[in-house]
Amino acid sequence: MTTVEAYLGLGSNLGDRERNLASAVSMLDERLAAPVILSSVYETKPWGYADQPDFLNLACRVETGLKPEALLGAAQEVERLLGRVPTFPYGPRAIDVDILLYGDQVVDTPELRVPHPHLIERAFALSPLAELAPELLHPELGVSIRELLERLPRAERDGVSIVGPLLRR
Ligand code: AMP
Repeated sequence: MTTVEAYLGLGSNLGDRERNLASAVSMLDERLAAPVILSSVYETKPWGYADQPDFLNLACRVETGLKPEALLGAAQEVERLLGRVPTFPYGPRAIDVDILLYGDQVVDTPELRVPHPHLIERAFALSPLAELAPELLHPELGVSIRELLERLPRAERDGVSIVGPLLRR
């Protein structure tokens, strides 16, 4: 089976945020039938809509045989199972699972865009990803993840602070 190295971004700002992340990681482990390699957990200021709790975010690397659409299906199933209810863009959520990168492939359909279109402007996604893969090149820009993070305005980077390893419970 051919596998692809994909990167997911996870976030939570409702309920027991760390438990939500840990549950999502366990479910992804099961569904992808492959170990999920984790970044540290980061605490981040909300993006877009400030009047909501801070998020916990992390990134993970998976070796997957799933096609991008099937990987999105798995991510959305995990969101559903963890009780995510639709709110509004950038609104509060028990869990968010996004595909950040899928190898060096570019996907541009109504349901799925990879690389994630907002990756390059969000420190909450770039910081954990840079911990896992600093020298990885953004497939469309040819710029490393580390460099993309360094290019962000200081105020954006300052909204993100490292917490430590995820407690897998
Ligand atoms: P969000 O609120 O960030 O979870 O966005 C969910 C919506 O974004 C769903 O309708 C997805 O089909 C769509 N989407 C597009 N590209 C991606 C991606 N790379 N990862 C996750 N969801 C995506």
